[in-house]
This record gives sequence, structure tokens and C-alpha cells, in this order.
Amino acid sequence: MTVSQAFGLSTPVQYLKGVGPKRAEKFRDLGILTVGDLLGFFPRRYRFFEPVGSIRELHPDQEASVIGQITAVEYRRFPRPSRIRVQLTDKTDSCQACWFNCDYLRDRFHEGDWLRVQGKLREWRSDLQFANPKFEVFQDYPDTAAQNLSQPIYPAQDHFGSRFLAELIRRAFEACRLQIEDWFDTATLAERDLVDRRHACQFIHDPQSDEQWHTARRRLAYDELFFMQLAVMLTRRSKLALPASPLHWSDEIDERIRRRFPFNLTGAQNRAVDDIITDLASSRPMCRLIQGDVGCGKTAVAVYAALVAVANHQQVAIMAPTEILAQQHYRKIADYLADSKVRVELLIGGQPKAHRDGILQHTAAGQVDILIGTQALIQQDVRFANLALVVIDEQHKFGVHQRATIKSKGTSPHYLVMTATPIPRSLALTVFGDLDLTTIDESPPGRLPVKTDLFRAKQETKVWDIVAQRVRAGDQAYVVYPLLDESDKLELKSARTQAEHLAQGELAEFRVELIHGKMKPAEKQEVMARFRKRLIDVLVATVVIEVGVDVPDANVLVVEHAERFGLAQLHQLRGRIGRAGGQGHCLLLANATTEQAKQRLAVLLKTTDGFKIAEEDLRIRGPGQFFGTAQHGLPELKLADLVDDFPLLIQARKDALQLLKKDPSLSWQKNRMIRDELFRRFGDRIKLIEAA
Ligand code: ADP
Ligand code: MG
Repeated sequence: MTVSQAFGLSTPVQYLKGVGPKRAEKFRDLGILTVGDLLGFFPRRYRFFEPVGSIRELHPDQEASVIGQITAVEYRRFPRPSRIRVQLTDKTDSCQACWFNCDYLRDRFHEGDWLRVQGKLREWRSDLQFANPKFEVFQDYPDTAAQNLSQPIYPAQDHFGSRFLAELIRRAFEACRLQIEDWFDTATLAERDLVDRRHACQFIHDPQSDEQWHTARRRLAYDELFFMQLAVMLTRRSKLALPASPLHWSDEIDERIRRRFPFNLTGAQNRAVDDIITDLASSRPMCRLIQGDVGCGKTAVAVYAALVAVANHQQVAIMAPTEILAQQHYRKIADYLADSKVRVELLIGGQPKAHRDGILQHTAAGQVDILIGTQALIQQDVRFANLALVVIDEQHKFGVHQRATIKSKGTSPHYLVMTATPIPRSLALTVFGDLDLTTIDESPPGRLPVKTDLFRAKQETKVWDIVAQRVRAGDQAYVVYPLLDESDKLELKSARTQAEHLAQGELAEFRVELIHGKMKPAEKQEVMARFRKRLIDVLVATVVIEVGVDVPDANVLVVEHAERFGLAQLHQLRGRIGRAGGQGHCLLLANATTEQAKQRLAVLLKTTDGFKIAEEDLRIRGPGQFFGTAQHGLPELKLADLVDDFPLLIQARKDALQLLKKDPSLSWQKNRMIRDELFRRFGDRIKLIEAA
């Protein structure tokens, strides 16, 4: 191949001037194989310069930048501080630049070289002098590219210098600019206020103003979001091949179901129910995510869905992440369904074999209507006669594999997932772009927002006083620790020691007990039952109580070492209290050491709105960590910000939907480029992006 002939976006970087096999190797480490990849390698930030002026126009106390030739260099080691003084001359005049205490610079400046300096000027012995300016040295008079107002800094410091990359990219861009075509037509771009790709590419690498940079970033961020949405949607479609059994609904069924609840559903619960019955009536399997803050009543919505299936003589599986939670669902649902014909069973680990075998047999024979359980449900010997609906509670606690396995127990069952870790809408759309989304944004009536206070560890006594007062007044309390047992490595209080300590000390007048994840299921169940019956006043716990547990009189929560918990976790914990109309009080004991920990606690004090908290969490942690985006096969977003670019995401999503509606397999000639780009970005991963 002769380089000039076929040179283009798909040419390997190795054929660029200045890049040989060695450097090509390093580029490969950065994921850059072709010239196109190189142009898609964006700066992480920019260094901005003042426009270059002429020396004659300089005056004291000004911030300025000039380029001049070095006409004299003087290095002085003593007296300290050491000093380098350089004389700079351009066509108009000359001035000085001076650095102090910088022996390492002594060999950097040579007469005849060109130097660009930027900094503050001062008057020194009737000469003008830059003191400790920023600088760059050039062998020759720098061409215009080097005089640019911005210098991109690339995230490749270990491999290449940014100046080298900038120059390489500039040349590559010049050579290929005409090949950078757009996949959107001019009208579409104008309507969305997006710049074309060629300009976006130029501006992102070499912005001459803030505005150019914003323009470029917006376009490129849009593309990131658009292709991600396309990928997610295409993946979902391929999973819709098998039809589900449509589940019918009637006013009579509705009335029968509603009679089972000891309350009226809230407006938001009713809206969720509406979404669900519409989905269930279709032979396209439902695939819906219900998200709602802790305590908003997702369980009732799930039970409603389950009873629609049961009314259609079909089976339902409800999977919860912990035994406590599965038991609680079981108890509550069995309660709602007392003296009905609906058969509900619980399947968890550690049940006696005979009992378990019985449940399995009845389930396989279609004699169990609703089977509730933990991951025990996905074991191989669990078989259903006609599983039509799978409900997953706190779905993010399960891995991809577990979710897929439970679904495979039915032929194409309807699928309902619930999450109380409110996922910011933006993230839900990206990660679960293939799920329909219902948000329950209203709590059952009469609930007061939990009051939250932060105490330093040494104010502990005050905290126990408050707890004692509240418990005497009839409330129950949780006290949560990050660890069960003391650890050599961490100097932290632990649940076990503190349970003893509190029972003998500060809270001696109350019934204090311990619950933790290492207890046997039956033990845990027993403790929770006694707590619920008010035979325990203060429950010392590890995070086992984090999700979903519901005890009406538990209105006080103490979290010690709160700085060690994540934001979502603390929000979940706080959601355990004030659930039945009482005033919840959350007392956080913390010595926040890191900046992130401080931010987390501040957010928690500021708001009880789970969605705001989730959004802040996303901001503090970034999307990758927030939800383990990597697990979903989704790439990190380079330029788009899921919080700030939310409107752009909505637009991109709409556009992606529109496009696929018209051309479902992207096979039209005019969508060719979009299809190619999709595969360039995702390759085979398109198949791996999971459908939650
Ligand atoms: P979550 O959304 O956190 O799973 P739950 O379903 O556990 O919330 O409901 C929290 C509490 O609110 C439960 O005690 C439940 O009985 C009660 N609840 C649910 N819906 C309503 C309602 N519409 N009116 C009154 N109480 C309700
Ligand atoms: Mg729940």
C-alpha cells in the first residue's frame, strides 16, 4: 500500500509520519489503531494562553504572552536563590524572563532558540521582566499551530507528550478532513443545534475559544449518547423473539385484588399498576423497571401484578436479595391473601429437606401460585409448570446471570423489576435503556420526612441520650455498624462488641439485641419477629437491615462510623425508619476524613429525596463506579455527562427510537454510515450489552 494513495481514516496510525512500529505499539495500548481512532482520542483538558503580543506593547503588572528569540542566557547559582535570566527579542523590542530557584532549568535555554512565555510582568531596572513565567521552547520560529491559544492535554501522559499528539492529530486531521462526513443531514443538525462532525473534530482538538469547545463537546457527547441508545435498543429487540402469555385483566379482577390491601393505592401506585396491566395484556413480554424511593410501596404494586397472573391461572416467582426480605414479602403477601385460595410458598436456603422437596414438587405441578424466595429460586431443581411472571426486588443486588436464570424458568415470562436505589433517570435510561421505566414518586399519605443529624464521634453520649428518650417514649431503634467483629486492621467499633457494651451501659434499661448476616436464617427470622413484636427495643445490626425491612415502630436509626458507608447505603438505611407515620430520626456518628465522605454526609443532611441523592452520588462517584457500568458492557462516556447532559440524552434517545422504527435493522443505504459507526464503537459487544 502506498501511503499517499489510500491514506484515510482507516489507515493504521503506523503509516503517519513520525509514527513507526514502536510508537504504533504504544498507540495500541491506548486503544488507537487507525487514524480515525486517533481523531477520536480527545483531550482531557486544555491549557489556555493569552494571545501572543509584541514585546513593544508590554507594560508592567500586565498578564501577557510573547514569543521571542533568545539573545542571552545567564545562570547564577549563588547567592541563593539561584536564578536564570533570559533575554528575549522579537521584531519590535526586547525584554527579560527570569526564573528563581530552578537549577533544573539551567540547560533548557540556548541562544538562538525561540521561547514563548506567559505570565505577569514587572519592571526591573528599567527593563520589563516576566518573573517565573510559563514557557515553551522551540527550535524554530513556531508555526501558527504552536501559537494557538489553547494547548490540548491528552490523557496519554505515560505514552506520549501532548505536544507531539497535538501535532500528529493536526496533521492527520488536515489530511483526512474531507473524509469526515456526517451521518446526519444538515436539517437534522440544525434542528438539534449541533455542529457537523468535521468542525466538532477540529474544535475538540484545537479550540480557539470556549465557545468552539462547547460546540464541539456538545456534538460529540450527543453522538456518544445516540450510539449508546441505539446499541441498547437493538440488543433489547433481539431478546423479544418469543411471545409471552398475555394476561387478561377485568374490572372484576381489579376489584378482587384491591380488596386484599388494607389501604387504597396512592396515585403513583395506581399509575404503576396501569402501566403493568397494559404490559401484561400483550404477548410481548413485559420488561419494566419500577423505581421508587424506599417506602413508596413498591411491594403492593408487585403483589397486584402477581395477582393478575394468578387470576389467569399462571405462576409467579418473586425473588428478593436477602432472606430477611424474602421472609418479609412472604409474610406480608400471605397476610394480604389470608383465607384466599391463592397458594403462596417461601423458598430459602437452610429449609429442612422434606419441606423444600414438598415445595419443589408442588411448584413443578403448578400447585403453588406465588413462589417467593432468595437466589434459592434459581437452583436447577426449581421448576415451574407455567411461570408467567418474574418479579425481582432490589434488582441491582443480583448479577446478570442470576436474573437471566430466573427468567429461563418460564418460556418468555413477563418481567418486573423493582429498585429502591433510585437510579437517576439518566442512568436508568442508559444502563436500562431497554427496560420500560415507571417511577413511583409519591409516598403513602401521612409520612413525615426523616430528620437527620450529624454528630462527631466524641458527641456519642448525646446520641445515646436521644435514643433513650425516644425509646422510653415508645419508639424502637436500629444501631448500625460497618463491621460485625473487631478487626486488627481497622480501628472501628463493631456490632457485636457494641451490642454488649450498650446493653450494659448507655442503653441498659432497654432490651438490646444483635442481628447480623452470619446468623442462620432461622435465627435472623426469629430476631426480626421479636423486634417486630416489640420484644426488642434496640436492634444492633450490620448492614443486613439495609434493604426493604419494614418495622412500623422503628423510628430511630443510629449509624456509627457513617463515613464508611456509601451514599446509597445510608439512604437505604435511613429508609428503614419513619415508615408508618412516626417521626423518624436518623443520627449519624462520623469522623469524615476524606473529601468524598464529607460530601456524602452533606448530601444526606441536605435532602431526603432519593433521586437527588442518587444524582449527587452519580456526580461524586461518576457513572462507571455508580452502577458498575462496566458490568453491563457499556463503554465509559468520554464527553457526555449523564447528569448535566440529560436533555441531550433524551433527544438522542428519541432520535434513536425514531430511526429504528423506520429502519429496524439499519439496512437502508442512507443509514449505512450510522450502522458502520455503531459497529466501530461497539463491535461484538452489541450482543453482550445485557437486557437487565
Ligand atoms: P418499598 O417501596 O420500600 O418496597 P413497601 O412496599 O415495603 O415499600 O411499603 C412500605 C410501607 O408502606 C409498608 O408498610 C406498606 O404496607 C405501606 N403502604 C404501601 N402502600 C401504601 C398505601 N397506598 N397507603 C398506605 N400504606 C401503604
Ligand atoms: Mg421493598
